[in-house]
Amino acid sequence: MDQLPFRQIHLDFHTSEDIEGVGAEFDPEEFAGTLERARVNSITCFARCHHGWMYYDSQAFPERVHPHLANRNLLREQIEACHARDIRVPIYVTIQWDHLTANEHPEWLALDERGCPIGTPPYEAGFYRRLCVNSPYVDFLKAHVRELLETLPVDGFFFDIVTPLDCSCRYCRTRMEAQGLEPADARARRRFGLQTINEFKRDLTRFVRRFSPDCSIFYNAGHVGTRHREVADAYTHFELETLPSGGWGYMHFPITMRYARNLGIDCLGQTGKFHTSWGDFHSFKNAEALQYECFRMLALGAKCSIGDQLHPSGRIDPHVYDLVGSVYAEVEKKEPWCQRAKPVTEIGVFTPEEFHSAEIGGLPPALMGITRMLEEGAHQFDIIDTQSDLSRYAVLVLPDTIPVSQPLARKIEAYLECGGAVIASFESGLDETQSEFALTALGVRLIGEGPRELDGTPVRGRHYERADYADYVLPRGEIGRGLPETEHAMYMRGVEVEPAPGSQVLADVIVPYFPRTYRHFCSHRQTPSSGQAGGPAIVQRGRTIYFAHPIFCQYDRNAPRWCKTLFLNALDILLPEPLLRHGGPTTLRATVNEQAAETRWVVHLLHYIPERRSQDIDVIEDVIPLYDVHVSVRVSGEVTSVACVPEGQALAYEQKGNRVGFVVPELVGHQMVEIRF
Ligand SMILES: [Zn+2]
Repeated sequence: MDQLPFRQIHLDFHTSEDIEGVGAEFDPEEFAGTLERARVNSITCFARCHHGWMYYDSQAFPERVHPHLANRNLLREQIEACHARDIRVPIYVTIQWDHLTANEHPEWLALDERGCPIGTPPYEAGFYRRLCVNSPYVDFLKAHVRELLETLPVDGFFFDIVTPLDCSCRYCRTRMEAQGLEPADARARRRFGLQTINEFKRDLTRFVRRFSPDCSIFYNAGHVGTRHREVADAYTHFELETLPSGGWGYMHFPITMRYARNLGIDCLGQTGKFHTSWGDFHSFKNAEALQYECFRMLALGAKCSIGDQLHPSGRIDPHVYDLVGSVYAEVEKKEPWCQRAKPVTEIGVFTPEEFHSAEIGGLPPALMGITRMLEEGAHQFDIIDTQSDLSRYAVLVLPDTIPVSQPLARKIEAYLECGGAVIASFESGLDETQSEFALTALGVRLIGEGPRELDGTPVRGRHYERADYADYVLPRGEIGRGLPETEHAMYMRGVEVEPAPGSQVLADVIVPYFPRTYRHFCSHRQTPSSGQAGGPAIVQRGRTIYFAHPIFCQYDRNAPRWCKTLFLNALDILLPEPLLRHGGPTTLRATVNEQAAETRWVVHLLHYIPERRSQDIDVIEDVIPLYDVHVSVRVSGEVTSVACVPEGQALAYEQKGNRVGFVVPELVGHQMVEIRF
């Protein structure tokens, strides 16, 4: 399969054994016809769910078939009806969550360091106990997967809940000891847990390949990040599970996609039709939100997947597919400009995730802050790690918390010698022990760890409710463009540095009269400026600019506009001709993709505004159109036409040197603009 289908459904079907008549109202024609009308061309259907039940007529494990499965051939009929209409059907198989197996084989459960099962306690609802893939459970899994491959047409597998665990079950302890590892050491267990899950994936992929040379294979863990690079060979593609209303938020998708798309395999974004998250039956996402989420997947180079859950009766909900179809009909029209599209980028942002592990809901604050700033500034960027090819980027950014080892320092210095540029902030550039700057090209020296609280806790980089240790930055000159030449609060304390010889201080720290403690304080919050200069706040040396403060974590915390302005000004100094500029508001998202075979670029403009309308989630209910949006793109060849697509409306354009400018007369939600060369 050279490319994933663009319009996919993930059809959950976790169905309790206490519900009768499962699949009784399933009608293959109605099912596949509804999908076809909604322009769906791939749907993931269930072989076995988190309750542990199977939805096909298993001969190997008849005791695991759902006890009230009225249609023993539910999965087979789903596949056959869809195949008759050219709709792919990857098969869903749960891995670590299986309620039936957890009850019947407690000896296969993953255990924490106290010997207790990891997951749902006995008197709570839920099937979230984890099974250990170092136990004999794997033998059952393989027999189950083998039966599917031998008895059903298998387009692909979606293996769900495949995450590294800190497991102290007897199988893990025995294997660790056999490898000379110490099971009592929590760090050793976590490393072993990662090794275990990676070996499991590679082994299961090899097993599947004995029966199918080319079916798709994906292992889901709710997040794709830096730990997936080393095991990408076990996957055919990545599905980025990221439901903005389901705990992931609206920032998770762009952050994961901007990283995952550089790992060499196709990516699929996965949201849901639910108002909130999985299992939210009889609820609907606003159509405008679903548009934004799917069109944003296209803009960032992903295909689309929408999660739904089939009712236990097996009857597909026509209202859900009216909603899905309203968006997928548009996706279908846009696809020709998204096939094999490659993002055009010029900024590489190192992710802190490689050094400080992240889970769902736990994206690094610095990464959240910089992604927002760059998207609000309409910059074209990827998120990268230390193994990435740096030569693709004009500027690298090390946001707040990127430790630099000697090999990484050499790699970045070689990149700088070839004409690259670097922006770093706060503790980025320090060596792994934070004792000195390993990246000496930044042109600063560490002079101390800064002030401590009265009890001795270092204050650097910490958030205080009343900004007890805040100081100030006094912007001037080019770095301060757009800001008044006066003190601007920096709520979190920065790193104490001095400029190395040959460096230029672009802005100074101005210190308060005193920090806020019980001994001395002033008014409700931080103490005002004393007017006295402290050390440097922003330092430039050649093609590098260093910020002493954690400006990206700060932006993620409460978004001071001056932090963004200072950073975007620094980018302007190092990158005076960015790929794209526009005259629209900061709520406008813009990306550039290339379709090399068609010798064209496609600019995506998106204008939807998620609003915090409730305690739990952000909501999009309206599309606010924009008119006469000026766009300027840096190009490398002679432009022959500019047009809004798929409408085919030609736009007047002007090419001056290496920039082409045009005006988009009306932007309603999402607009693609084709630039032909
Ligand atoms: Zn284990």
